[in-house]
Amino acid sequence: MDVFRCPRCATIAFVESTDCSACGLDIGLHPPTLTMRAAPDQGTDVDGSWWFPCGNRAWGCNWLVAGDAGSGRCLACRLTRTRPSSDDTLALEKLASASADKRRLLVQLADHGLPVVPWYEKKGGLGFDLLSSRSDGARVLIGHANGIITIDLAESLDAHREALRISLGEPYRTMLGHFRHEVGHYYQWILVEQTDWIDECRTIFGDERASYKDAIARHYLVGPPLDWSDGFISSYASMHPWEDFAECFAHYLHLTSTLITSGAGHLSVKMEGVPTIPDHEIAPRTSYADATMDDILGDWLPLATFFNRVNRAMGKHDLYPFEIPEPVARKLDFVHRVVTSSRVPVPLGSGVS
Ligand SMILES: [Zn+2]
Ligand SMILES: [Zn+2]
Ligand SMILES: [Zn+2]
Repeated sequence: MDVFRCPRCATIAFVESTDCSACGLDIGLHPPTLTMRAAPDQGTDVDGSWWFPCGNRAWGCNWLVAGDAGSGRCLACRLTRTRPSSDDTLALEKLASASADKRRLLVQLADHGLPVVPWYEKKGGLGFDLLSSRSDGARVLIGHANGIITIDLAESLDAHREALRISLGEPYRTMLGHFRHEVGHYYQWILVEQTDWIDECRTIFGDERASYKDAIARHYLVGPPLDWSDGFISSYASMHPWEDFAECFAHYLHLTSTLITSGAGHLSVKMEGVPTIPDHEIAPRTSYADATMDDILGDWLPLATFFNRVNRAMGKHDLYPFEIPEPVARKLDFVHRVVTSSRVPVPLGSGVS
């Protein structure tokens, strides 16, 4: 995927932009083509059909919705099945913030060609329950079940999320990371467990029919195996084959998103004198659909080293505070093969918008 641009003056736009920073044009994302279009209140013509700004534009949603969609809200907003009540203003602020992460996730899924079938069109379709544990103190368990992803909006509060990250000993915790992990559970369910991929998946990740209840009890009582980093991307991944797959899926999205963004910016990095990496020039691509996982890791490992140095130059933690041992590379390869063989032509198609 290339960068988004203003349709009038071609200035670069962020995926979240509602107006052009140079010419001021109101812009919005047209989901089927993943392009920025003019977004006047009266709507805009895209290839012969009429598209309007989403009804949640005041909350920062910059997607367009088809005039004949039967709803004033866009596909991304309609995927949210449950949200905080209208008088819960703090939760609604966090809903707006988390919804931006959700839209970024959906754009990336569409860029990979992954199918997005909404919960309101098909039983077991994708949907989101975006709730806040701060609303009435009731616990909100982040997770996935039968297509529905539940997110605790309190994790949009930096202090809350950071306190959890430290208490759990995690090197990385973001709202976008939660979305990427949970959608990994969803895609394992529809693309692997319901297809012929399941046998190979069990060989690589282990048997997902093992008791999840026992696994979670063991993980929090005894902790992960001491040598977890030899075979897993995170200690959490070592808990159960489902978590291993979801973690690997999230990392697959972390890697490809960062590489493709770098590729769209024509970044090239010269690697010299890095142990275990031969000297060479790396030019990330704007798509890895035709590449192998070895190609992806060949670009990623030196680039991650470079970005970690950049972050340290700013006094920040590493951009990518993880190691990818050989068994994890094989798991990522499996995820890559599932993703690239599951491509659909128009993931966020006009029919479902
Ligand atoms: Zn412009
Ligand atoms: Zn919307
Ligand atoms: Zn999980």
